[in-house]
Amino acid sequence: MTSITEIGHHIGGNAIPGASGRTQPVTNPATGAVTGHVSLASAAEVHAAVRAAAAAFPAWANTPPLRRARILFKFLELLNQHHDELAHLITAEHGKVFTDAQGEVTRGIEVVEFACGIPQLLKGDYTDQVSTGIDNWTMRQPLGVVAGITPFNFPVMVPMWMFPVAIACGNTFVLKPSPIDPSPSLLIAELFKQAGLPDGVFNVVQGDKESVDALLEHPQVTAVSFVGSTPIANHIYETGARHGKRVQALGGAKNHMVVMPDADIDRTVDALIGAAYGSAGERCMAISVAVLVGDVADRLLPRLVERTKSLKVLEGENLDAEMGPIVTRVAQERIVGYIDQGVKEGATLLVDGRGFDGAQAGAGCGNGFWLGGTLFDHVTPEMRIYKEEIFGPVLACARVKTFEEAVNLINAHEFGNGTACFTSDGHTAREFARRIQVGMVGINVPIPVPMAWHGFGGWKRSLFGDTHAYGEEGVRFYTKQKSIMQRWPSSIARGAEFAMPTAK
Ligand code: NAD
Repeated sequence: MTSITEIGHHIGGNAIPGASGRTQPVTNPATGAVTGHVSLASAAEVHAAVRAAAAAFPAWANTPPLRRARILFKFLELLNQHHDELAHLITAEHGKVFTDAQGEVTRGIEVVEFACGIPQLLKGDYTDQVSTGIDNWTMRQPLGVVAGITPFNFPVMVPMWMFPVAIACGNTFVLKPSPIDPSPSLLIAELFKQAGLPDGVFNVVQGDKESVDALLEHPQVTAVSFVGSTPIANHIYETGARHGKRVQALGGAKNHMVVMPDADIDRTVDALIGAAYGSAGERCMAISVAVLVGDVADRLLPRLVERTKSLKVLEGENLDAEMGPIVTRVAQERIVGYIDQGVKEGATLLVDGRGFDGAQAGAGCGNGFWLGGTLFDHVTPEMRIYKEEIFGPVLACARVKTFEEAVNLINAHEFGNGTACFTSDGHTAREFARRIQVGMVGINVPIPVPMAWHGFGGWKRSLFGDTHAYGEEGVRFYTKQKSIMQRWPSSIARGAEFAMPTAK
């Protein structure tokens, strides 16, 4: 018997059961079993979270950055102690394999490590003597209550792209996680409390569109960070801006990996297999298109077919697993629909993951949401499987004659999140990095997710807004600049000035 958990909110330092009467089932994707019910907050519950965050803001903003950092150091210690507990929660509700979930937690923790350096990051700029007896300096101050709305695919890492930096900067935070895998957010809130974070600085409201709209419309929410699909990112950006908020909204992707004829074939196959099928392709930086240049396709594809067929598709807690289940039945059916569509459009289906029997993945997995790895060849730009984000374990191979053609193909795509080029030629690599219209580029690195101090963000319809997530861009997003100019009476020249002041 699986016990069913009631999953509520965390507001003002307390775990709060949902009161809206609306819930959504939470499932274990490996077995299809319902393991919990997550509350879907009403606007009134969202308002309570914003009230708690607003009440906590003045004291938190006034807390010296060094003392804020000390709480983050304590939080970091607790995160490290609870690292695997968080990873197990991810595997249970998202389905990704445990080792991948561990990696997710580590990449989130890196942003907390970055945020621990906040006193240095908030250091202002100072100019002595801009005119005789006058100094000018700039400093950055927090915005107030800020909100984060996050997707299902990284229930720990993506929220951690946001709140460690926002909170370190002196803001208070309301997180609205995905209702598909809501549990890690509550453990994070509990660890923050144990670390000594004042009540109300970090709040979690579970919910769906109703809670998102309540955050977007609330006059006390000053900024919104969003990560999710492009249509919703677009909606968040427009609605948030209309309500006078600062918004960064990261959207969907279709990441291409160019394989040049001089690439090392064995290493390229390893890279493609991991980047296309890791996390069942449910990563915004997953490689979903391989652009095979010149004659490389004929050398690479036989090995890729063999490796795709022998992927270890197993339930996530099995340490041999390379790929776990798809997150929900709805997502699995959507991906199958895309595979059907690819066949109809005339792409060559080299490996078909549709018939995968979940019972092979582990005990009790017969009713889970399973698919095998799928590989298409001869995919062309007019096909829907090329244009649209599938967000599943489906790799499309497109053949082109030249490097030039590969660059033009990628630059013409509506998304520009991540990309990679595999080559052993330095000039090709350099040209690729400079000319490609994509925010994050890997040279012989298939998933180039930037480190915590570099910032993460795509171009084109993969990001709406001006700043990337985390890193120094994150510090800029969560603070506003103030310029101060001062002089003291003994240096003030007598007499009114009517001309524009200049340096004297
Ligand atoms: P999603 O857009 O369905 O949901 C994201 C968030 O928005 C969730 O919190 C959800 O509850 C909320 N939401 C959903 N529908 C809404 C609506 N109509 N109005 C208001 N809020 C709504 O995305 P998902 O399926 O959870 O995540 C997968 C998507 O996220 C993929 O498109 C993937 O590429 C993208 N993603 C992008 C990045 C990035 O950095 N660019 C990172 C991770 C995921």
